[in-house]
Amino acid sequence: MREPVAQARVGRTVPFRDQSAPPPRAGDTRPGYAGLPPAALGTWLTEQGEPAYRAKQVADALWSGRAATFEQIVQLPGPLRARLAEAFRADTLVDSEVRPADGGLTGKALHRLADDRFVESVLMRYPARGQRRARATLCISSQAGCAVGCPFCATGELGFWRDLDIAEIVDQARFWRRELLATDERVTNIVFMGMGEPLLNTDAVVGAAIALSDPARFGLGARHITISTSGVVPGIDRLIDLGAQYTLAVSLHAARPSLRSLLVPLEHRWPATDVVAAATAYGERTGRRVTYEMVMIGGINDTTEDAHAAADLLRGRLAHVNLIPMNPVAHTPWEPSTPARIEAFATVLRSAGLSTTVRRNRGVEIGAACGQLAAELSGQPTPAAVARRRKLLVDKSATALELAGAATH
Ligand code: SAH
Ligand code: SF4
Repeated sequence: MREPVAQARVGRTVPFRDQSAPPPRAGDTRPGYAGLPPAALGTWLTEQGEPAYRAKQVADALWSGRAATFEQIVQLPGPLRARLAEAFRADTLVDSEVRPADGGLTGKALHRLADDRFVESVLMRYPARGQRRARATLCISSQAGCAVGCPFCATGELGFWRDLDIAEIVDQARFWRRELLATDERVTNIVFMGMGEPLLNTDAVVGAAIALSDPARFGLGARHITISTSGVVPGIDRLIDLGAQYTLAVSLHAARPSLRSLLVPLEHRWPATDVVAAATAYGERTGRRVTYEMVMIGGINDTTEDAHAAADLLRGRLAHVNLIPMNPVAHTPWEPSTPARIEAFATVLRSAGLSTTVRRNRGVEIGAACGQLAAELSGQPTPAAVARRRKLLVDKSATALELAGAATH
């Protein structure tokens, strides 16, 4: 059996191509191949007087990762390759840079889009252990930036630029499939936990999830795809109607309303009780256990009261809780909770019958938390701005904790 060790492809930095190259065509209107409805290319080829089987040749080459451009599909006649490239983009990611971490087990890619926006994807390898086969989990972005503005999140700090389209989302997975081909590895899981709030870009995210799970396209089982949301109830309802087997992850972070309002501003619009009700309905519709994510911030949301509040909210539901020590980000005064605090928190949840795990942070050294690389690239805020922001958070969290305390006593 092949030993899944750190591999050269992810283990070295792959820099952007020529930085002095002309900027990508802003407003490139050619549709991305990966975002086309399945029959569209066949129709286009027929209109061009080409045999329909050419569509399968294109699909085989582009979805398998053997080709990244139409030019590389050697089975096609040269003039057809050129016409395809005029009409479509084989890849919507104009350029990508990979930075390794964890001795090559983690790779973080920064992707440049046609309008010069940046998004990130992160590949995390989990080597085989005992009976458990090796896994490679890919974290992808759904938006450039994010409008939700969770204060512990580097993407939240960046603000919102725009939604990604289907092809821009799927092309992150195709990028890594090509990268891993050289080492005979596969992406085994995809999580929508990169930049952006997937359920505020539901059409594209659902379209991308369908393409990723379609056996004739990317071909990853729906159960291996996780959609993470900070709590957009209409988006969860949409997933319920879809009835597919995607794993749903809910970013809960705190059960007490005043504290959750600070950590996840969407709480004002869709309170945790409504979010958990919708997620529970999703679990009942699909039979899938819902994952609740809690980023653990020292002295903020890791107290015994918070553990009991989360246990009360989730008790008896088809739920799994994931506790994630916060990745430090520059603009917050906050620190991750201590391992002992996280264990104590987990014990309360387990006593309430909730299956609970603690996630080890991956790629901290390359800023693998949500949006951190893109934040670096967009320029650091001035020290004065960081200091103001930190002071504001100290004040706001003191108020939130006071309010939360008043509500429980
Ligand atoms: N917007 C969606 C999905 C992207 S964020 C959501 O919020 O669920 C994916 C996950 O990364 C979320 O659970 C988020 O809370 C977590 N995250 C963001 N910033 C983090 C940080 N500084 N440390 C640890 N996890 C973080
Ligand atoms: Fe957006 Fe998720 Fe970051 Fe919150 S944690 S700002 S919802 S990306």
